[in-house]
Amino acid sequence: MRTIIEPFRIKAVEPLRMIDEAERKELLKAAHYNLFNLRAEHVLIDLLTDSGTAAMSQEQWAQIMRGDESYAGAKSYYEMEDQVRSIFGYKHMLPTHQGRAAERILFSVVLRPGMVVPNNNHFDTTRANVEYQGAEAVDLVIDEGKVPSLDHPFKGNLDVGKLEALIRDKGREKIPLVMITVTNNSGGGQPVSMENIKAVSAVCRKHHIPLFFDACRFAENAYFIKLREKGYQDKTPLEIAREMFSHADGATMSAKKDALVNIGGFLTMNHDGWFQQCANLLILTEGFPTYGGLAGRDLAAIAQGLREVLDEDYLCYRIASVAYLGKHLEELGVPFVKPAGGHAIFVDARAWLDHLPPEQLPGQALSAALYEKGGIRSVEIGTVMFGHQDPKTGKEVPATMDLVRLAIPRRVYTQSHIDYVIEVFAELAKGRKKIRGLAFTYQPPFLRHFTARFKRL
Ligand SMILES: *Cc1c(COP(=O)(O)O)cnc(C)c1O
Repeated sequence: MRTIIEPFRIKAVEPLRMIDEAERKELLKAAHYNLFNLRAEHVLIDLLTDSGTAAMSQEQWAQIMRGDESYAGAKSYYEMEDQVRSIFGYKHMLPTHQGRAAERILFSVVLRPGMVVPNNNHFDTTRANVEYQGAEAVDLVIDEGKVPSLDHPFKGNLDVGKLEALIRDKGREKIPLVMITVTNNSGGGQPVSMENIKAVSAVCRKHHIPLFFDACRFAENAYFIKLREKGYQDKTPLEIAREMFSHADGATMSAKKDALVNIGGFLTMNHDGWFQQCANLLILTEGFPTYGGLAGRDLAAIAQGLREVLDEDYLCYRIASVAYLGKHLEELGVPFVKPAGGHAIFVDARAWLDHLPPEQLPGQALSAALYEKGGIRSVEIGTVMFGHQDPKTGKEVPATMDLVRLAIPRRVYTQSHIDYVIEVFAELAKGRKKIRGLAFTYQPPFLRHFTARFKRL
């Protein structure tokens, strides 16, 4: 088979600054070994997140110039609405400044204290917005989805048996909606099958509970269905996406992922009453319903991004480039969450740096080493992010896993950049037993990973 190439050529370039290992060591020390404290210009390959980091196309930049900045009824709004409706198929659409704004507005309208929201895995802002309303966020991903080393084509699936049991246990009136996150970001960027979507939808319909998608990576999910699920090989990603959405009643979306823009989001649904209330809340905090906190040009770029993201050449390259990194890390014996996700590889740092106990923060230690050795920025998803300090003993209570996420921005890096990342891993593999642990020197009371400081042990 021939190499799957980037299906674009480069017209505008952004230079990367080459700095040496000695300088990076100083910079990281000055940043107290927290990569959030680094200046982005000191990073060579930035794999911190795939959110809002995409490269826009020439057509999107052209749309930026064409954006209609009218306060009400802008042409760009109607373009975005048409595009969203042609893929999602729901009656109403509200633009928002990001995905979390759509979540906050939806949950403010539908949730009351004591209610429950089931999801395969809540993303952290989704969980926080559910809990902010005094409701409970329950994760019902299938058991296979919790075992990092296990290979399964649809590890993001929601356990239908557990959903039925939850509805029986809590009662239908406690559950105003069910959500499915595609792809399942918190569970390793793993897809959800059409069969599972249909099964969850059937349970929801039986109990008259609306089903919503957290649709941030819907195009990547549609492409995984095409690749892995029987009966979908000859369908286009657009046809598959439409079928996915036809089984639900609405969606929240961060346009910073699969709408290929740097800022934006939306909320879309069929329910007239909920929509009316959401529109009123939107006006209170985001803006008039035809711009929702965005500029007209942002709406126009989202409409164009949604047109491009379902292109099969793009999706083939996108999924292949993440799988490529996974394949080579596998050859180097680097353990990661299997199979490779749609937007990221999640390296199992606890397993790879097995000379470091969780209290010595193996994820943060690997993240630091990747920066020092190669200027690569990743993010720890482990004890730093999800562990805590025991208030009585002051000892670290570790998270269940210590992962390091390598998120791949869309259309930004070429295969040679990824080859470089693989080479840095190969160098680290030789000396991995020498990678030293880290300890907190400062931690804030919540969301500690953003501002914590560390020292090397
Ligand atoms: C990014 C993300 C969100 C939140 O979107 P923002 O645009 O960052 O506010 C919600 N759910 C999932 C699954 C995400 O990946």
